[in-house]
Amino acid sequence: MPPERLLQAVWQHQRLVREELFLLDGRAVRILHPGFLNREGGPDFRDAVIQFGDASPVSGDVEVDLQAGGWHAHGHDTNPAFARVILQVLWEGGRMVPGMPAQLALVNRLDAPLGELGFWLNAEAETTPENLSGRCSGPLRQIAPEEWCGLLQQAAEIRFQSKASQFAACARQTGWEQAFWEGLFRGLGYKHNGWPMQCLAERRGRWFLSESAPLVLQARLLGIGGLLPADVTRLPAGSANYLRRTWDHWWRERDAYADCQLPGSLWRLHGQRPANHPQRRLALAAHWLAKGDLIAKIERWCAEEVPAAGLVDSLLAVLQIDGDDFWSWHWTLRSPRLPRPQPLLGAARVTDLAVNVILPWLWARAVEGKRPKLRHGLENRFFSWPAAEDNAVLRLARQRLGVGGRPPTPWRAAEQQGLIQIVRDYCDRSNAVCGGCRFPELVRKWGELAAENPGSAKSM
Ligand code: SF4
Repeated sequence: MPPERLLQAVWQHQRLVREELFLLDGRAVRILHPGFLNREGGPDFRDAVIQFGDASPVSGDVEVDLQAGGWHAHGHDTNPAFARVILQVLWEGGRMVPGMPAQLALVNRLDAPLGELGFWLNAEAETTPENLSGRCSGPLRQIAPEEWCGLLQQAAEIRFQSKASQFAACARQTGWEQAFWEGLFRGLGYKHNGWPMQCLAERRGRWFLSESAPLVLQARLLGIGGLLPADVTRLPAGSANYLRRTWDHWWRERDAYADCQLPGSLWRLHGQRPANHPQRRLALAAHWLAKGDLIAKIERWCAEEVPAAGLVDSLLAVLQIDGDDFWSWHWTLRSPRLPRPQPLLGAARVTDLAVNVILPWLWARAVEGKRPKLRHGLENRFFSWPAAEDNAVLRLARQRLGVGGRPPTPWRAAEQQGLIQIVRDYCDRSNAVCGGCRFPELVRKWGELAAENPGSAKSM
């Protein structure tokens, strides 16, 4: 039996006799698009387009398992992340099992012997198949690198202004300070826990008392968030001690906050990096709130002259806390004590908070306050901010747009934001075969315009 990685590569590159594919139940199947390799939790391929028999093509996910039993053995049948799976790709088949997604066995459908495919996997399969490129990849290849960069910067500008207008709208309802805290909590939720974090911040008026100590606020935030484990006994000794101290506060308060408690099920904790765990993020937020000077410090940072190379470190110095008796020494409640203390915030998260929260919030205030000099200064910071960590959305976008081997230069946070905006505006509204997407046409027009008006790329 081949390794699962080889089977995934075979599927991704469609190293199959594609005209002769039949499901275990006998229906013919046409793979219009194999989907996009998913390197995170959930099915192996997202957004495939498949035609079963004579039915209309459908879009959904694909899971690759060596054997049919993997579906139940790995718990996919009860995992909501697998609810969109329309096809289970197997090495060997058997009889179709009722209640399963459609099943396709590849054992006799490879386009080359297994040994040859294994050699090919080591040599080539890590590259992106040419035919996964979207329809825009051709027009994008036709425009000059600086035009591509200008296009990304304009998309970044749209994204930045849209975030700023959300802050302005929130501030009209709740005030600038509350808008800031809602944005900051959302940012701390990272990609999977933005909503519960926002829900907590929305009730800040209920749970925040300015004289509270960090531990009291941590207990309150973890308690309201449904993130305080009830069972202390199964935790390492240091964690059990911390948890007892938080429970000492929370048990006295919890009835008073019954109306704003969140169910623990709202959080997505599976597959979370320890440094991004919401318990740790809330512990950090408790320190900021207890100290009470975060907004004033950010305003002072905004007024300082900071060279582009020092932007991340200077903001990190504003956001970093001195330390926490427990959280500086433990990644999570279940982790053993670390040999040396770790900061509660890293440079990667600072960039995300800067481009998604702090700069748009400051910019929206500058616009409302009619302070053009401040506004331009913030725009300069946004456009010169160093790139954030690469991620799955950016990698997939570069694959689809056919620019994987040609990332724009410079490649900064603004260009990354522009790329994400293109994905949201076009790829997410289309399908894997780019049906109805207007972006290729826009790129062509952009190229023509740039040729007529050189240097017209950026304007905020
Ligand atoms: S959906 Fe549009 S923007 Fe996305 S890859 Fe296809 S053509 Fe390009």
